[in-house]
This record gives sequence, structure tokens and C-alpha cells, in this order.
Amino acid sequence: MKHLAKKRFGQNFLTDQGIINSLITAIQPVPDDLMVEIGPGLGAMTQPLLKQLDHLHVVEIDRDIIQWMQSFYPASKISIHNSDVLKFDFSSIGERIRVVGNLPYNISSPILFKLLENTAQIIDMHFMLQKEVVERMVAAPSTPEYGRLSVMLQYRLQMEYLITVPPEAFEPAPKVESAFVRCVPHAQLPYPASDEALFAKVVLAAFGQRRKTLRNTLKGLLDDDGFTALAINPQLRAENLSVAEFVTISNHIAATSH
Ligand code: SAM
Repeated sequence: MKHLAKKRFGQNFLTDQGIINSLITAIQPVPDDLMVEIGPGLGAMTQPLLKQLDHLHVVEIDRDIIQWMQSFYPASKISIHNSDVLKFDFSSIGERIRVVGNLPYNISSPILFKLLENTAQIIDMHFMLQKEVVERMVAAPSTPEYGRLSVMLQYRLQMEYLITVPPEAFEPAPKVESAFVRCVPHAQLPYPASDEALFAKVVLAAFGQRRKTLRNTLKGLLDDDGFTALAINPQLRAENLSVAEFVTISNHIAATSH
């Protein structure tokens, strides 16, 4: 169909067939997968996915695209949800789902944080994102890319950087490079936090001012005795702590703050 890309919906449509093939190969769809595609757009991934799946759910915000999809795809093969993905109830799809998407880059972090709340239901996720975001997701401690996103995602997910994708693979070409990433929820959390809300609060506080020391950013949460008890140097900064150390800190606060 003729469609002018809408910037406000982050519309950059994949057109490179070679890249599309490698994404589908990485996803490895099998016929009875319960799969949800976020932002199907004009179908760059939807159409090859439908060749391999019995059925596919898609979540799309753009009404023009919705109208076109309703006339283009056989209703028996696809469930079309006209919704903002940030408001979409993923539990309505089923108990064990796979999620894929070439995400709208302007809201990729909110989408990732929303899906983090549904990981019990998710088998795996494959996303195209801004390359810089994927680098932050998979970053190791003490690197410039390591931050709140890395810690919060790595707490729940195992992630794999799969493919770098150049701007020319899209129409219109975005200003940045992209990357395709696989995220698989840990079957068992390697470092479970006893109070996950507190863990999130500690991570947020520590990275709130990432140039400051932990003694400063965690003031009111952990005192010098606490740092000593945990053998963590209060002169370090958030970027120096592993996920396990963030969990250790939040579990200590949880256990001692009664
Ligand atoms: N999957 C297509 C492709 O690969 O060519 C389109 C990808 S494009 C980067 C992002 C898609 O997400 C667009 O179809 C856009 O309309 C849709 N989208 C943007 N914001 C959305 C939202 N909040 N909820 C659901 N879909 C959204």
C-alpha cells in the first residue's frame, strides 16, 4: 500500500530482504508458537512470520495501517490489536508467549520496562532497536554503556547481541545504526532480590547521579557501617557495581531497615 512514514510513530520500515531473512532465521518461528509482533507496520517481518506460523498477534497504533492490514491479511491467520503497546494487556494473549518487533525507537525503553513486568509469561523476545540501546542493554560493569537499563534488564533477562543493521536497511533510513537482540527471561533469577521494588529504587538512586560516589547517591539508604558489612567501597560509583552487588545492597537494606 502507499503509506507516508509517520515520524511520531517511529516509522522506519525494513526493506532489506537479506536482513529480514536473517532476523527470521534468528527468531526460528515454529507453527504453533503463540507470537506477538509489536508494530507490524507494512509487514516486513509479519509476512515472512506468517509463512511459518499458524497464527500471529500484532499490536499496532496506526489506524491507517490497521485498516490496510484488515483487508490484506486473512482474518484466520492474524489477530490485529489496534492499541498503544504501552497500554496493551499482554496477559490477554496467553500464558507462554514469544514477542518480536522492530520497535519504534522513540519509546523503546518504556516498552522494555513494561515487558519486564510480564517476564513470567514470556518465552523469549527478539527486538530491533537503536544499536546504542542494545549496547546499553548488554553492557558489562565499569564500561561507559553500563547503566540502569543494563542492571534492570540483566536482573531478569539473558541477552544476546545478534546482528548490526545499517540505516540503509530501512525506508526512510533512520539517523542511527540499529541492532537485533535476543532476550530470554532467566528460568531462575541468578540473584533474586528479597524486595524488588527496593532493588529498583536502589538502582535508580545510584545511577541518578552517575558521576557521584555510592556514599553520596545511597545516602539515607545505606550508611558507612552498611558498606563495611558488605565489603563494598563507598567511593565506588554505580557503574562499578555488578547486578549481584546491587542485589546484595538492596537485600541488606531490606533485612536491616525494620
Ligand atoms: N515492523 C515494521 C518493519 O519492520 O518495517 C515497522 C517497524 S517501525 C520501526 C515501528 C512500528 O511500530 C510502526 O508500524 C509504528 O506505527 C508502530 N508503533 C509506533 N508506536 C507504537 C505504539 N505506541 N504502539 C504500537 N505500535 C506502535
